[in-house]
Amino acid sequence: MPSLDRAIERLYDLSVGTTPVEEGPPHERPHKPLLLLAVFDLLDDGLATPDRIPWCQALRDRFKARFDVVRKHNDQCNPDLPFRYLAGDGFWQAVEADGTTPIRREIRVSDLGQVHARFTDGFDLLVVIPGNRSRMREALVTRYFPQHAAALLGQIENRQSTINNRQSSSLHEDELEYGRSPAFRRKILEIYDHQCAACGLRIKLPAAHDVSFIDAAHLIPFAESRNDHPTNGLALCKNHHWAMDREIIAPGPDLHWHVSKFVDPRRSNGEKELKELVGKSVLLPKDPAFHPASQALEYRVARLSA
Ligand SMILES: [Zn+2]
Repeated sequence: MPSLDRAIERLYDLSVGTTPVEEGPPHERPHKPLLLLAVFDLLDDGLATPDRIPWCQALRDRFKARFDVVRKHNDQCNPDLPFRYLAGDGFWQAVEADGTTPIRREIRVSDLGQVHARFTDGFDLLVVIPGNRSRMREALVTRYFPQHAAALLGQIENRQSTINNRQSSSLHEDELEYGRSPAFRRKILEIYDHQCAACGLRIKLPAAHDVSFIDAAHLIPFAESRNDHPTNGLALCKNHHWAMDREIIAPGPDLHWHVSKFVDPRRSNGEKELKELVGKSVLLPKDPAFHPASQALEYRVARLSA
């Protein structure tokens, strides 16, 4: 069985796809995480088991209730797509009525009638435990829909479910401060290809070394925002992470670096180097869907020690 932490890392890294620029500001498609949230509801309510999740009206209703909360631009409410394509993430199978044939590509899920899905690869053993579902649900909201946490988690509380609310959640102290660090870090490093967004330093150690010289920094601290969406993150080397956390340097909404006027380049080499960052571009990830949110950048610049 995979550990819960490892499973949460995989939930942070669902291949959700991003929207093309022609459809407005690029963003990740919400369908897979929404489907999982809907499935967890069904498990809570005894309408599904980890090895038999029916394609049913209850599932579609729960999907749609959340979809209406998070939809952007012309996102389409089509739960049949993630029901089929979540299989690509390695812990989900969708099968036809016989229980073994993977659902056929040429037929829409909604036209197939008796199809169901199941968790595989150890997720079946994890999601059967309500406390695990609670952690996974909170992780999905934190990673994909932090702006809608109240609405999405509130929906659950209103249903009198057994899910713990935020105050009594099982998060440890350090998680409150840093988010689900390993999962967030892994995702940010992948998006930024292990490169510091300030100086361009890139160090990639083989995966076996579970250490990194490059950090994943939150723009708005996790304790304040509970936001692990990649647009609230930045890959930074230790030095620049330290300097940003102490409000000495800040990435701005103009996507350039800003430096506190307290930094005196005549005083030391280090300060000279920090000062040289002024006006340099923030080194961004390729996919615009993951560029830092302007609201998060404004937060940083506003706190720069003037
Ligand atoms: Zn750096």
